[in-house]
Amino acid sequence: MKILVINSGSSSLKYQLFDMESGNVLAKGGCERIGAGGAVTHKVPGRENYSIEVDLPSHDRALEIVFGLLTDKEHGVISSIDEIDAVGHRVAHGGEKYTKSSRVDDEMINYLETIVPINPLHGPPAIKGMRACVRLLPKTPQAAVFDTSFYSDIEDFRYIYALPYEYYTEDGVRRYGFHGTSHRYVSQKTAEFLGKDVKTLKMITCHLGNGSSITAVDGGKAIDTSMGFTPQEGIPMGTRSGSIDPTIIPFIMKKHGLSPDEMADVLNKKSGLLGITGLSNDFRNCLAASNEGNERATLALKMLSNGIKKIIGSYVAELNGLDVLVFTAGIGENQYELRRMVCENMDALGIVIDEEKNKNFTRGIPFDITGEKSKVKVLIVPTDEEYMIALDTQRLCK
Ligand code: AMP
Repeated sequence: MKILVINSGSSSLKYQLFDMESGNVLAKGGCERIGAGGAVTHKVPGRENYSIEVDLPSHDRALEIVFGLLTDKEHGVISSIDEIDAVGHRVAHGGEKYTKSSRVDDEMINYLETIVPINPLHGPPAIKGMRACVRLLPKTPQAAVFDTSFYSDIEDFRYIYALPYEYYTEDGVRRYGFHGTSHRYVSQKTAEFLGKDVKTLKMITCHLGNGSSITAVDGGKAIDTSMGFTPQEGIPMGTRSGSIDPTIIPFIMKKHGLSPDEMADVLNKKSGLLGITGLSNDFRNCLAASNEGNERATLALKMLSNGIKKIIGSYVAELNGLDVLVFTAGIGENQYELRRMVCENMDALGIVIDEEKNKNFTRGIPFDITGEKSKVKVLIVPTDEEYMIALDTQRLCK
């Protein structure tokens, strides 16, 4: 079975074509600057990458180009788009209705339209990508995999905010959680790596990338997560503030005469590592600056690692114990310095890492960095959201 996984952003569209029998990626790539020019990069394992500049006025056109590349004599990997057996869509938000991955139909797309007000950034491009795929591949079964669905078992006292209750019932203001596909994949992979049944494990999975979230997973089910109504809540991120005292927002808006959109822009795009350092949203640049003596970069790293520590501590309390602590995503998988800072002085919680293993870890595979005296297993587990989407799509579209 060949499955195409699509991830549509506002001006981008990423794709991966999987052969499910072997689990291999046959081709992958991305379209960028949709609606404002256009560029496509297409990668086939074992061949040279192929990049073109091409006008991409819409997601429809981007998909047409992708289908052309997948079936191209020189750059393609299949002879006809009919060889695509199913399409899996990454969808950030399933609202309260879509609590698990589901087949795409009109009812789903219409519902997703109704929740655009609570998902204004990611909703419209996901809907555009789904509509374009349904139009171009009308006979091919399609599934949507929602980042929020891993959190459908979270209990109300953990997802309701202490605001007037009507904001929940009438406006849908509640914790939804994000990165669920990554946390779900990593928690399953962790159990597999340890040779244990996921139902027997208490885990905390730390997805640390440009966007970051931490999830408490009890017996394979998420019980709490750091992102909330939007991916803004939680720890400081590349450009997002994470949790702050909410009253700071009207204070700054009044003082600097900012509109709600301008304020949202500050919180989303100008805060986090970028805001604190004034230099970069990229952890690597902040670490390099800190090593050169930049005090604000050092402050940012301390704020980030302490933010992660605080959430881990609170989740150990919520889980009433911990068997495994897992690091994943760009920073979690690659940056041993951050893992060291997070796990420093955590022995009271039974968390001790092996400094050597942490530093000399092997990239790209699950890797155990547990220290000798640790009561908790500490692992690096590479995430693969696209493969998880392909697996769900295979199950739903067989
Ligand atoms: P992500 O959003 O998961 O792609 O992660 C982006 C963040 O991870 C950036 O802050 C990078 O500094 C960091 N990162 C990604 N890849 C690497 C790598 N190979 N080595 C070090 N840091 C990385």
